Amino acid sequence: MTLPADYHAHSNYSDGRPLPSMVAAAADAGLEAIGITDHCNVSSRELPQRAKRKLGFNLDQTYGRRREALRSLREQAPESNPITIYDAVELDYDPRDESEIERFLEDAAFDYTIGSVHVVDDANIFDREYFAAKSESELQDLVAEYYDKVVALIESELFDVVGHVDAIERTPELRGYTTQAHYERVAEALEFSPTVPEINAGRVLEEYGHFHPAPAFLEAIQGRDVQFVPGTDSHRPAELLDRLPVLEERFADLDLEPVTPFSE
Ligand SMILES: [Zn+2]
Ligand SMILES: [Zn+2]
Repeated sequence: MTLPADYHAHSNYSDGRPLPSMVAAAADAGLEAIGITDHCNVSSRELPQRAKRKLGFNLDQTYGRRREALRSLREQAPESNPITIYDAVELDYDPRDESEIERFLEDAAFDYTIGSVHVVDDANIFDREYFAAKSESELQDLVAEYYDKVVALIESELFDVVGHVDAIERTPELRGYTTQAHYERVAEALEFSPTVPEINAGRVLEEYGHFHPAPAFLEAIQGRDVQFVPGTDSHRPAELLDRLPVLEERFADLDLEPVTPFSE
């Protein structure tokens, strides 16, 4: 199958390559549409603020400028190869930040939104060193905390899409602590929420080697009649070009019809 769109790609407005190169890769890949979903955090808490300063990107400050850039890229697109470009976001979710998130999303009015949990215990979920120092029971608790946040994200109904539902499985130190009960809780929350999950190809060609959600998790969700949005979660043009064919294959293998993250 050919996918019409990739709804999860980054640019230099967060931690990806220049915006025009990402859009050009999507057009080269033959996509009808690409969603630019740069990272964004709007928490006023000290830790996220410090993390933002360290990383140096702030889509909450720059989305207006990015919007202008997207407008001129649309105008420049050749008539022979037009591509729809969505002005979207991957926003960090934490239950403590719900009112700030709601206010920001209302003001920014993106085409659609992905909400992602990237932090547990005030540490980034991909920070291997941090988790390597934890005991087994601490790790169990941290993974439980992660899924509590994912369920809260889905139930908040603040977002169109929930990003990479089992992202913690990427981190070797956190891998294997996800339980069937976690799968079922997330699947049930999805069944009763307008927020849809993605099939995320962010680490399928890397060391981790799986899509999000992983097969057993996917089975729990599919038992509930939930649909999926396709996302390569690319940060570089080459990643988009490499991941798109495997993502298409995945949708075909699972006999899934990709959905759009917004109502048309
Ligand atoms: Zn993410
Ligand atoms: Zn991402």
